Amino acid sequence: MPLFCKQCNERRLPIFQETEKKTFWHCEKCGNFVDAEDMIIREVTEAEKNEMDAKLKEFEKKTESLPGESLSRRKGVN
Ligand SMILES: [Zn+2]
Repeated sequence: MPLFCKQCNERRLPIFQETEKKTFWHCEKCGNFVDAEDMIIREVTEAEKNEMDAKLKEFEKKTESLPGESLSRRKGVN
C-alpha cells in the first residue's frame, strides 16, 4: 500500500472518492492522489483542498471545546 509518498516521504492518507468509488491515497504536501499501485491519479482540486481544510478546522474546534475541568473532580473529606 502506498502509505508513504515516493516524492517527499510524507505519510499518505486514504480518502474514499465518491465519484470513482475507490479509495485513493492523498499526500498533503504534494497535493495529489495515487491509487493502490502507487500510480498518480490526479492533483487535488481547489475545492477538495478547501473541504479538507474545513473538516480539519471543525475537528480542531470540537476538541478545543471539550470541557477539561470536569475531568478533575474534588473529593470531599468526611
Ligand atoms: Zn508527497
